[in-house]
Amino acid sequence: MSKRQFKTESRRILDLMINSIYTHKEIFLRELISNASDAIDKLCYRALTDDKVGMNRDDFRITVSVDKDARRITVSDNGIGMTADELENNLGVIARSGSLNFKSALTDEEKKDGELDIIGQFGVGFYSAFMVAKKVAVITRAYGEEGANYWVSSGADGYTIKPCEKESVGTDVVIELKDDCEEEDYSAFLSADRLKYLIKKYSDYIRWPIVIDGETVNSMTPIWQRSKKDVSDEECAAFYKEKFFDISDPAAVIRVSAEGQVSYKAMLFVPEKAPYNYYSASYEAGLQLYTSGVMIMDKCAELLPDCFRFVRGVVDSQDLSLNISREMLQHDRQVRIIAASLEKKIKSELGRLLENDREKYEAFFRSFGLQLKYGILENYGMKKELLCDLLLYYSGREKKLVTLREYVEKMPPEQKYIYFACGDSISGIDALPQTEPIRDKNYDILYMTDGVDEMVAALIGSVEDKELRSVNSDDLGIDAAESRDEIEKAETENRELLDFVRDALGGAVAAVKISGRLKSHPVCLTTQGGVTLEMEKYFSALPGEEASKIKAERVLELNPAHPVFRALQNAFSADREKAEKYAKLLYSQSLLTAGMPIENPSELAELISGLMV
Ligand code: ADP
Ligand code: MG
Repeated sequence: MSKRQFKTESRRILDLMINSIYTHKEIFLRELISNASDAIDKLCYRALTDDKVGMNRDDFRITVSVDKDARRITVSDNGIGMTADELENNLGVIARSGSLNFKSALTDEEKKDGELDIIGQFGVGFYSAFMVAKKVAVITRAYGEEGANYWVSSGADGYTIKPCEKESVGTDVVIELKDDCEEEDYSAFLSADRLKYLIKKYSDYIRWPIVIDGETVNSMTPIWQRSKKDVSDEECAAFYKEKFFDISDPAAVIRVSAEGQVSYKAMLFVPEKAPYNYYSASYEAGLQLYTSGVMIMDKCAELLPDCFRFVRGVVDSQDLSLNISREMLQHDRQVRIIAASLEKKIKSELGRLLENDREKYEAFFRSFGLQLKYGILENYGMKKELLCDLLLYYSGREKKLVTLREYVEKMPPEQKYIYFACGDSISGIDALPQTEPIRDKNYDILYMTDGVDEMVAALIGSVEDKELRSVNSDDLGIDAAESRDEIEKAETENRELLDFVRDALGGAVAAVKISGRLKSHPVCLTTQGGVTLEMEKYFSALPGEEASKIKAERVLELNPAHPVFRALQNAFSADREKAEKYAKLLYSQSLLTAGMPIENPSELAELISGLMV
C-alpha cells in the first residue's frame, strides 16, 4: 500500500473547497447523508431488476453514530457501496461524480422510472467533510463483492486505499473531528441533539430513514409532496407556524404542482402580520429550496419578485441545474421560469383573498400594502398591472377601503377623473379646502395617507381609461366656482395685490393666484412644477442632505369671493403694514390646513395676538 497523491488540480480544488465554497461547516452532514441516500437509491434501483440483491425497501436505512471519546462521527448506509476502482475514481478525483456517470448511463426509459432519484452530480460534496474533519475514513463494500476496502485521508496531502473486512454491503464514512479552536467549536457536532437538529433542518425529507440511537429522525415525506386533498388546512397552518416561526395562521396558502418546462412543487404562505423587522434591512426574503428532498438553500431570493417578498414557503424541484457548491444557485433559466409562474400564482391568490375574504385581506393589506406600493415604485411602474388591482384606499364617501376598480365602477357617467387627496391622516384630508368642489359634486375622493402614495398614483396613471387626478390639480374637469375667464379677469385686476402678497411672504411661495376651486375657505396651498407637498414630505423624511433639499414650489391660492379677500384688498389700499400681516396670516392658515408645519410659530402667535388688541 503506497500513499497516493490527489491529482494536482484536485489538490487545488480541495483547498478551495475547504476554505471557500461552502459557507456553513454544518452542511458536511447534509452532504454525507445525501451520498448515503444516493447509494441506497442505486441499490434499491438495482433490486428492481436483480433478485439477488435480496433487500426489501424497508431494510434500507442511514445510521448516524457518535464516539465522543474518539471525536468520531460515522455515517453508515446499506446502499450499493464502492469497489476499489470506484473508490479511486470517485473519491480520488475531486469533481468527478460517480452518481452523475450512473445517471448518464441510464436510458431515458430507465430515467422515467421514478424509482431513481439521485441527488449527487457535482462530485464535491464528499470533500465538505474536511471542513470539520482532520481525518476521513471510508470503509466500503460494493454490492456483489466479498471483500471491502478502506480509504483514508487527512486532507490535501493525499489518501491511501487498502483492503479490509466488512460484514455487509454498504459504506461507513468515519470522520474524526478537528480540535476545537477559537473560531470553531467542533465538539458541538458530537452532541446527538445537535446532529438531530441538523438532520431535521437539512435532510428531513430524505426518503430513507435516518437513525440516531435507534430513533428515526427525519419525517421522510414532505407535506408539499402530499396531494392537496390529503393535507388539511390545520396541518398546513401548523407546518407554516413551526417552520417559519409565526404565531398566527397564514392569511393564505398557495399550493403549486407544476409539470412542463420545469417540474416543481411549491407550498407558499402569505403571512397575516409583518414580522417586526419586515421593513428593515435585517429581514431576509426568499423561499426555501429543495431538490430531491434535500434542502439546498434556506432563503432563495431569486424565486420571489421583490413586491411579494413577504411570502414564505418551500419550492421543490428536480429540474434545477445547480452550480458546484449547491449553496449558490446559478441565476439560471429554470429558476426564472419558476419565479415567473410563482409571481402569477401569488397575484391570483391575493386577488382571490380580496374577493372572498375582505376582512382577512384588509389585515394582510395593513401589513404589506406598503410593500405592494413599493413594488410599483421600484420598477418605475413595470409591475403596476400586476399590483394595482391589489391596492386599497380609503374612500371619503364610503368611509371604508376600496379598490381602484370599485371606485371606477361607482363613478357617475359624467365624472371625468379618479380624484385623490394626499395628507397625513383621514381627518386631515377631510379638512382640506381643495376637496370641497369635488365633494359638492358628490364625487368620491380616495384618501392617500402613505408618503409614497402620490408617486404611486402618478405611475399608475389611469384605471380603465379614467385618469387619477389630485384634488390639487389645476384642471379638475368640473365647472369650477368661477370660470377661467372670470379668474383671469380677477387676476389682472388684482395683479398688484397678488404680487404684494408674494413679496410680503419673502420667497416662501413661488406664486400667489386667484383660485377657482375654493368656496367656503379663504385660502389653500397648492404647488406648481413636478414636486408636490407630499413628495417634499416624503423626501424630507429620508436620511441624507440631498433628499431634504427637494422642495415643492408652493402656490398660495386666494378665494376672491370670500370676505377675507375684501379685507385684504382694503388693507392693501389703506394700510400696507396691515396688509403684510394679513398675507402672513393667510399663508400660515394655508399651511395648517395642508398639514404642513408652520415655519415660524411664534411670529404667527404674535400676529394673532396683535389682531386682537
Ligand atoms: P456527488 O455526490 O455530487 O456525486 P460527492 O463528492 O458527494 O459527489 O461524492 C462523489 C462520489 O463518491 C459519488 O458520486 C459516489 O459515486 C461516491 N460516493 C460517495 N459517498 C458514497 C456512499 N456512501 N456510497 C457509495 N458511493 C459513494
Ligand atoms: Mg454527494
